[in-house]
Amino acid sequence: MCRPSQHQPGIVVVLPEQTDSYTGIMAICIPLSFGCPTKIKQEEVGPARICPNCHNQTVISARARTWFEFCFVPLFPFSTDHLWLCSICNWQVERKGGYEPQIAPPGYRHPAQAQTPGYGPPQGGYMVQPPPQSHGGSKM
Ligand SMILES: [Zn+2]
Repeated sequence: MCRPSQHQPGIVVVLPEQTDSYTGIMAICIPLSFGCPTKIKQEEVGPARICPNCHNQTVISARARTWFEFCFVPLFPFSTDHLWLCSICNWQVERKGGYEPQIAPPGYRHPAQAQTPGYGPPQGGYMVQPPPQSHGGSKM
């Protein structure tokens, strides 16, 4: 039997010819970031004022400056606001409106704290000690 020799040609992958129409625009991708972060700085230490939101006397007078920041480098401030700021609940209001939080009177307590007594009833200071267990005789 004569077997015809099978001729297997090598697989030639013909890629489509890429056209050189790519104009050589060098796209420089440098992440240029700029923003306007607001930095808040405590301005003066005055009497404690009551926050109308959380009723803690933690309202401070602060100065909020908005900086023009380029690549994380603050360049110059272009806006300054004076505001009242609560350091607990982050409540804030501009002082331009003329609103002033209430100054905490002496002995002011948080309403939630004023309702619940701060000191619990004293617990019995004596520990009831269990009677020592006596082993009735040791048997060998
Ligand atoms: Zn608050």
